[in-house]
Amino acid sequence: MNPHLRRTSTRLADGRELVYFDDSPAYVSGERTRRLDDPRPLPDRFAPVPSPDGTPHPYVGPEMRRDPLTGDWVPLAAHRMNRTFLPAADSCPLCPARPGSAYSDGEVPDTDYDVVVFENRFPSLQRVPGAPDAVVEDAPLQHHAPAAGRCEVVCFSSDHRTSFGALPPQRVRTIIDAWADRTAALGAEPGVEQVFCFENRGQEIGVTLHHPHGQIYGYPYVTPRTRTLLDQAREHHRRTGRSLLRDVLESELADGRRVVLETEHWVAYVPYAARWPVEVHLAPRRDVPDLPALTDAERDDLATAYLELLRRLDRFFETADGAPIALPYIAAWHQAPAREGRSVADGGTDDVTLARLHLQVFSVLRAPGKLKYLAGSESGMGAWISDTTPERIAARLQELAPTSAARGWVPALSDDDGAARARAVLAEAFGADEPGEEVRVWAAPGRVNLIGEHTDYNAGLCLPVALPHRTYVALRPRTDSLVRLASAQAPGETWTARLEDVGPGEVAGWGSYVAGVAWALREHLVAQGADPAAVPGFDAAVDSSVPFGAGLSSSAALECAVAVALDDVAGLGLAATDAGRAVLATASVRAENEIAGAPTGGMDQSAALRAQAGHALLLDCRPGLDPVESATQVPFDLDAAGLALLVMDTRAEHRLVDGQYAQRRATCEDAARTLGIGSLRELADAVDASDDPAVALARALDALPDDVARRRVRHVVTEIGRVRAFVALLREGRPDAVGPLMNASHASLRDDYEVSSVELDVAVDAARVAGALGARMTGGGFGGSAIALVRADQVEAVADAVRAAFEREGLGAPGFLLATPSAPAERVA
Ligand SMILES: [Zn+2]
Repeated sequence: MNPHLRRTSTRLADGRELVYFDDSPAYVSGERTRRLDDPRPLPDRFAPVPSPDGTPHPYVGPEMRRDPLTGDWVPLAAHRMNRTFLPAADSCPLCPARPGSAYSDGEVPDTDYDVVVFENRFPSLQRVPGAPDAVVEDAPLQHHAPAAGRCEVVCFSSDHRTSFGALPPQRVRTIIDAWADRTAALGAEPGVEQVFCFENRGQEIGVTLHHPHGQIYGYPYVTPRTRTLLDQAREHHRRTGRSLLRDVLESELADGRRVVLETEHWVAYVPYAARWPVEVHLAPRRDVPDLPALTDAERDDLATAYLELLRRLDRFFETADGAPIALPYIAAWHQAPAREGRSVADGGTDDVTLARLHLQVFSVLRAPGKLKYLAGSESGMGAWISDTTPERIAARLQELAPTSAARGWVPALSDDDGAARARAVLAEAFGADEPGEEVRVWAAPGRVNLIGEHTDYNAGLCLPVALPHRTYVALRPRTDSLVRLASAQAPGETWTARLEDVGPGEVAGWGSYVAGVAWALREHLVAQGADPAAVPGFDAAVDSSVPFGAGLSSSAALECAVAVALDDVAGLGLAATDAGRAVLATASVRAENEIAGAPTGGMDQSAALRAQAGHALLLDCRPGLDPVESATQVPFDLDAAGLALLVMDTRAEHRLVDGQYAQRRATCEDAARTLGIGSLRELADAVDASDDPAVALARALDALPDDVARRRVRHVVTEIGRVRAFVALLREGRPDAVGPLMNASHASLRDDYEVSSVELDVAVDAARVAGALGARMTGGGFGGSAIALVRADQVEAVADAVRAAFEREGLGAPGFLLATPSAPAERVA
């Protein structure tokens, strides 16, 4: 099942079986192998045992007796009479062998391991070869039989000091695979009726070995709790024709009050009649009888869900000063018995799973330092009385759910919130409204480019959408030409300039983006022969939900919010038409290029001013085109298609890229010159129009002098082609079919244009593995963000997978936002 797992089995010196489950790449690949020989001079475990008088007596296996009052079997600790060897108290038998040590008291021959399972040395349940299985009647109502089962120990890590909850998800996945392997193996042993995987954690539970480990019992009978459950399930099925455990899950989901965690494949809930002070059940959404029946996807998802559950349980109680208390717990896997209750025919074509797989985790801790004792009622009568309510347990576990901010989600502000926040910053910095000078608020969105990367300076095509994340500018015109600015992102600071003083090279700092727009609009008025003073001075304050440094164009959002604000207060009316908005975009580009001194191609400003909700904006970057004709709306209604566009902000520091950008641009311009064309767009158009585009492109590439140039040109030409294909699919109403184009774009940017980064590749790969229809880096590269097109109901799962991949690779936590194609810059208050 799991290609990332290697299973190696051996026998210990006394004949017990030991199985290594390795996920470390060197072992998975076979490059390294595990030590298999056990150097200890242990006698065979079934060999005759010396008695106190020196004469050997035959090995005696554990026995069990039947309680005539309940019918339950009770295994006796008979094995203790065989126990001639006790490990030294100061050595841990579950730790790996010490390197260089000739002899080890430990059970594991190798000097480390990922996960290892071996037969318990002193088992309560054990089949002795040759011993008869029969139930023996000692007297009326007195029956005994060999406790002919099997007990195994599962070591979760070779690190003595760690715990299950601290393991990485892929190690937990290995443990799940080990459980499944052992469940199948023990269930196939003669006489084993039920396999039980469990972990006891904490001294309060009676754990004496601190090494992180669990146990697996193969019982030679169906346990009392499972027997009771099967009786209930059969009765429920007789009455309703349905599965009891499935109906329990569905009723918990329908009620919802006790559901504490939901993932794609798993649901955790506090049961309606929980008995313990802390109790939670984790069940698969699909009907499965046992762990071996889980799919790969269900196992991966279980690792994540289980870890999240343990994380919350370890914060359930806190000390007086707020430190979390590691919860003592029992984690018990309920699986269908090996030979009964796996399913019953429902009379139709389907089977009903009677004993459905689920995990029950519970604790005896009822408050910090206080244990629930199983006292008279519980111990005497088996009648449970709870000290709390299931709803209270659930409320605490729900409260411990990670906040969306902690999981990296960056929400968009509502326009009301954004406006209120910008107004508050203005009032704080420059005083409340002055009579007759109304404060109003404008907003402009960040953007993300769907496809068409590094094509703008090659006169190519690109396809941005406006984000729901906006920058808000509260602005009050002045009667003079002073500009005073404040920002929520720079608390306590103000930026001031006179408009007459603003010009190329004259101002610096973030205010130059704002004042630059006023300057550019005044220049526009001059060019029109109008009075530049129509654009007045102003006080303005800014707040934004567009992440900075994420490649989502926060600077264009700022410029364009200011542009529509000044258009409004100056009464220019440009924002009323698309042609006018193109003029505002040009002014914003000039502000950024000429006043702020930052290079920008114009895509960002066009997106912020001209994109429309539910649409992508196809931009044709050929110079000299009429601005109105250079932009086309393309329908891109994600909601209607049941899709979402997930932006994955790597939050990685941008590496030095200035030289890289200039280098690539120069390579493209040199290549165009070599090919005798004005821009690579001409080649892209010629390739697109030819009968055999692949041959046409190859012929052009042959004319280029070196491999680097060939790869750069191949990216630009194929990327322009991908924009065309992407737009064609959107126009056909097939947004769910664009995934392969996104994947191809990423490969081209990574391999041919060489502008990706480790973080971008990890985000893109993890998103695809988790089910994204397509994913690619977006923006200039070397950091910033990647995007993934995902089914709307898989957004959280894909984000979780990307977050887990970053953690696994030792990268900083990424950020996430949803890029619902949104409205352009406008007045909001
Ligand atoms: Zn240990």
